[in-house]
Amino acid sequence: MGLVVKKFGGTSVADVERIRNVARRVVKEYDRGNDVVVILSAMAGVTDRLIQMARQVTDTPDKRELDVLLATGEQTTAALLAMLLKAMDYPAVSLLGFQAEVRTDTAFGNARILNIGTHRIRDLLKNRHIVVVAGFQGCDAQGNITTLGRGGSDTSAVAIAAALCADVCEIFTDVDGVYTADPNICKKARKLPRISYDEMLEMAGLGAKVLQIRSVEFAKKYNVPVHVRSSFKEEEGTMVVNADADMESVVVTGVTSNKNEARITLKQVPDQPGIAAKILTPIGEAGIVVDSIIQNPHSGGKTDLTFTVPKADYRQAVEISEAVGGEIGAQAVLGDENIAKVSITGVGMRSHSGVAAQMFSALARENINIMMITTSEIRISCVIEEKYAELAVRALHSAFGLDQEDS
Ligand code: ADP
Ligand code: ASP
Ligand code: MG
Repeated sequence: MGLVVKKFGGTSVADVERIRNVARRVVKEYDRGNDVVVILSAMAGVTDRLIQMARQVTDTPDKRELDVLLATGEQTTAALLAMLLKAMDYPAVSLLGFQAEVRTDTAFGNARILNIGTHRIRDLLKNRHIVVVAGFQGCDAQGNITTLGRGGSDTSAVAIAAALCADVCEIFTDVDGVYTADPNICKKARKLPRISYDEMLEMAGLGAKVLQIRSVEFAKKYNVPVHVRSSFKEEEGTMVVNADADMESVVVTGVTSNKNEARITLKQVPDQPGIAAKILTPIGEAGIVVDSIIQNPHSGGKTDLTFTVPKADYRQAVEISEAVGGEIGAQAVLGDENIAKVSITGVGMRSHSGVAAQMFSALARENINIMMITTSEIRISCVIEEKYAELAVRALHSAFGLDQEDS
């Protein structure tokens, strides 16, 4: 018999009726003779509401206390499911992050899992218990409650699956798999039967929130087969696995968009060695992750330096840039929050040429101006005006032949 980890996201546990549906699916697996560990998210919208509540108390909630608050969302659903399973005469037990020994660092709000002590879960499974674990939360070495960043229950699930050497980690959500583009943006998107870890990593990092990026990192590192599927339908979803020759033959697997970044430009800074480092070092020291960077030289020994940062860090990044800009004699510091990054991803890009040109032409046909370009071996991203994000996704999806035939 096997060991299956099943994770249910926010919409899948949105109310008691849906939790009943989760219980039915869990029991079905258990009755097949398999051991079952269930990871739950908070009910849809609850984490957002808790954040709003904290902001009503203060604009800058203490990060430790905010995590204590946010963890209650997952505590609620885990307790309700375990209660329901017990009422159905199944031996179930709920565990919070610290009880499941999910050890993290101390980065409140965005903690990383360091290790998972599996003794308690293994003992419970040995006694044929269904173990229900509250996702999204862990605890640091001092016993403080931490949370893993938005969408973090995916990472709880895959990390627990890796630690237990589970046969599969099933991610149950409100779509029936990973699509060639967000099906809520692109009606012609197709469900992928399989996707490689590397492609999923890129897509998750570029806006496909169907899996949190760290969950894919864990899956790849520990070779955990991940099955993304619907909570509401029985059919197979998408397997996230190692790449094979078949996958290499497809140039573009998916199109993504991301509106979570903002752009900062330092105008007319001296075009000389050390200037980029001078600007970007304090940004990095503030814990702000810079994504795209571009430099446009002018005549007269001056250059414009433009880079993007997460929107959440925008204000702080502008303040730092203004301080450095003053020191190095920048003519101005400009900011723009109305940008989006659209990207195409595919392992087949490694061996095909002309893909970038095809992407730029597709955007040009729609009169969409490209502000910045970044690439990796298996991805090309363009920063464009935010209002064109959806149009760009659909145009690229069609240009690379990804559209569903019958729509
Ligand atoms: P959950 O609450 O179950 O964790 P999420 O809302 O975090 O669910 O993730 C599922 C959502 O991810 C879908 O509703 C869909 O809009 C979005 N999504 C974005 N890109 C993709 C994609 N390429 N394939 C499938 N879903 C995607
Ligand atoms: N409840 C958390 C969130 O909304 C974690 C998760 O759902 O994965 O981000
Ligand atoms: Mg999610």
